[in-house]
Amino acid sequence: MIDLHTHSTASDGKLSPAELVRHAADVRIEVLSLTDHDTLSGLEEASLEATRIGLEFIRGIEISAVFTPGTMHMLGYYIDPSDTDLTETLSWLRGGRDDRNHLILSRLSELGYPLELEEVAALAGGESVGRPHIAQAMMARGYVATFKEAFDRFLGKGAAAYMDREKMTPEKAIEKIRRAGGLPVLAHPQTLGLGDEELSDVVGRLASLGLAGVEAHYYSHSDDETAFYVTLAGRYGMVVTGGSDFHGPGMIDSRLGIGRGNMNIPRSVADRLTDLHINGVPSVDSGRNRE
Ligand code: AMP
Ligand code: ZN
Ligand code: FE
Ligand code: FE
Repeated sequence: MIDLHTHSTASDGKLSPAELVRHAADVRIEVLSLTDHDTLSGLEEASLEATRIGLEFIRGIEISAVFTPGTMHMLGYYIDPSDTDLTETLSWLRGGRDDRNHLILSRLSELGYPLELEEVAALAGGESVGRPHIAQAMMARGYVATFKEAFDRFLGKGAAAYMDREKMTPEKAIEKIRRAGGLPVLAHPQTLGLGDEELSDVVGRLASLGLAGVEAHYYSHSDDETAFYVTLAGRYGMVVTGGSDFHGPGMIDSRLGIGRGNMNIPRSVADRLTDLHINGVPSVDSGRNRE
């Protein structure tokens, strides 16, 4: 099993980077990537722990991009953590998170659900603070019964206390990841909220801008959707990737490697991504044929 989309306490996950790596080894994950939102701060700890226990680790990041009607997230694999242009961009994005968090809390207060920023910050272990931490603070106050209710009623796109934040255009996100030596991959295409034809057009345009892959395997994709995204990636000469978006217990309902039990990400997916990084071209077969 492999899993190329996970979160730690560096952003909005529940496990520390080292705990995440140990959990991955426990459930027999062979290749893992940590893709925290807007921060690289968990990568070193995860990488050291992975080396210590002998698990293959791929550096990752997840960046939100401007998009309507749905949500566009860009994954970046093999980014160089010392790239100053990227680290400065990420720091700017985290500033936008702080601004938005203030706006969300003001709105929640107007709606009769006051929260202090300190309560939210206390639930966040790392430097990238987001809506999942606000959702947890709302649960702790008894404002909502579940994490999902917090998003459905208040925090999700279009809900009562939803606020936008500073984001990059998809073009810029692709460029920043590329310049930092990384491979940009379109995360969970399902959440773009597009029909098949529009999606194909958007993916084709992103491919021409340097997109390297499509996250075809994802916990909330149906088998038909996964198959279509695999076809799309092939249509534009890109690799496919896959991951659970694991955040740890009590958050989204998805387990490492298997999601809701529906995922089965071929090992070759990780091998082709690695080949693309090392050789500039993905391997044709399962990775066993690497020269
Ligand atoms: P943020 O980084 O603050 O924009 O929050 C994004 C994270 O919130 C995602 O990675 C998910 O973990 C979570 N999230 C976003 N929308 C929803 C939703 N509708 N239901 C549950 N969780 C969500
Ligand atoms: Zn998240
Ligand atoms: Fe995402
Ligand atoms: Fe994610």
